[in-house]
Amino acid sequence: MTRAACPGSFDPVTLGHVDIIARTSRLFDEVVVAVGVNDSKRVMFNTDERVGLLEEVLADLPNVRVMTFSGLLVDFCTEHDISAVVKGLRAVSDFDYELQMAQMNSTLARVDTLFMPTSPAYSYLASSLVKEVARHGGDVSEHVPPVVLAALKEKLAG
Ligand code: ADP
Repeated sequence: MTRAACPGSFDPVTLGHVDIIARTSRLFDEVVVAVGVNDSKRVMFNTDERVGLLEEVLADLPNVRVMTFSGLLVDFCTEHDISAVVKGLRAVSDFDYELQMAQMNSTLARVDTLFMPTSPAYSYLASSLVKEVARHGGDVSEHVPPVVLAALKEKLAG
């Protein structure tokens, strides 16, 4: 059985993430969406909220499940018998850091990283940008699933 991880903060999940996760789910038997729990990182949505939104958005992909991890991603992968990490690449600017991390991770454990080019429609999309636009009242309905749009509106209204 092949199992891959799609790691990230998902604060909140965007259509760019969904695209990578859905495509990964067609290549592997199982996909674990690994939500990083990092207390020093400032987030808009807490861990439960980020997991809840992912679960709702990914409910129609039967071989995908959502889990949290803290500490090293490679340790999480080893513990859960995950042999591949799949990362979306938006532009060459993503590549430098991702390559460094992939090479470091492969020295730490037997975990390979695969890069998947993002669909052109999402190449400029990032959670941080979505939050910034939403904070200023901009329309992000084309960039996030409807439940996330509702959650953003609620968060920003409160
Ligand atoms: P981070 O943990 O760096 O905050 P994110 O949660 O924003 O990362 O994203 C997690 C991963 O999802 C990224 O490392 C990247 O592989 C992928 N990703 C993010 N945005 C996109 C996008 N627009 N298109 C494709 N992949 C993306």
